[in-house]
Parts: sequence; C-alpha cells; structure tokens
Amino acid sequence: MNTIDHPLDQLSAYVDHELDESEHERVDFHLDECESCRALTAELTEMRSLIANAYQSIEAPVRMEQHVMSIIEQRSSDPMIASFGLTAVPIAGLLLLFLVLYLYGSVALNFLSITFSFIVTSAHVFSHIASSTPVMWGAIFLIAIFVFLLSGLSLRRILRGTMTREGGELI
Ligand SMILES: [Zn+2]
Repeated sequence: MNTIDHPLDQLSAYVDHELDESEHERVDFHLDECESCRALTAELTEMRSLIANAYQSIEAPVRMEQHVMSIIEQRSSDPMIASFGLTAVPIAGLLLLFLVLYLYGSVALNFLSITFSFIVTSAHVFSHIASSTPVMWGAIFLIAIFVFLLSGLSLRRILRGTMTREGGELI
C-alpha cells in the first residue's frame, strides 16, 4: 500500500469554492483518483446544504410572525371588528405559540441531523488515519467505524424522513 497525500485540510475550502484555481484543480485531480476523499467531499457538500436549510427554517418563523401581527393590526384598527379583535388577540397568540413550537421543532431536528453528519464525517477522517496504522489494529478500528457509520446513517435516514414529512405539511 503506497502512501497517498490526501488533501483533507483543503476539502472543506474546496466544497465552499474558496480555493484558488491551481489548488482547486489539484484537489479535483486527487478526487478523480481517490474514492475515500470523494465520499468525504460528498458528506461535506451534504452537511453544507443541511446547514443552509436550517438557517432558512429559522428565517421562516420571523416572516410568519410579522404576517400574523399585521393581520392582528388590520383587524384591531377597523372599528367594526375592534371588539372582535380583543378576542382574536389571545387566539392569534396561541396560534403563534403553536407555530413557533412547531417550526422550532423542525429546526431542532435539522441541528440533530447536522450533528450526525459531523460525526459521520469525522468517522471518515478517522478511517483515513486508520488505513495508515498497523494492519491488525487498523482492521479492528475499521470494523468499529463501519458499525458506527451504519448506525449513524440509519438514524440520519429516520431523521431526514421526519424532516421531509414536516416540510411537506408546512407547504
Ligand atoms: Zn484521498
């Protein structure tokens, strides 16, 4: 087994398009040759989009809160519905509370999923290190990582399923 120089410290910058042209080409070239770095790059790309999604879900409740507040303001400024508006405020407040609980629930799930991605990505990095340690210990370590990866991936799949269902209901 020959020693290959994996550009592990550059992969994150590669995914974020932060490398200069020659570095980017060098990583590109390495990814063509190296399957484990390709897998790691795919994990990093997925983690990046999960983080982006989580931030979008945080923005959503802010906009919805403004929308609900503007409806309350419209109603209470109309003298015909002003008295009705008094009863509408606590109802709208309750609805808003449920909405925030509901939306922040899915944000919490997103962050759980990101944590799992992070653990899986770290496991990839460790498997790189394990491949250069003595064969017996390396094999034991890789088996442990494999079992860990499988449990992590299946948990992540369950979480992603829950997230998709929630996303569907929101639209
Ligand atoms: Zn590599």
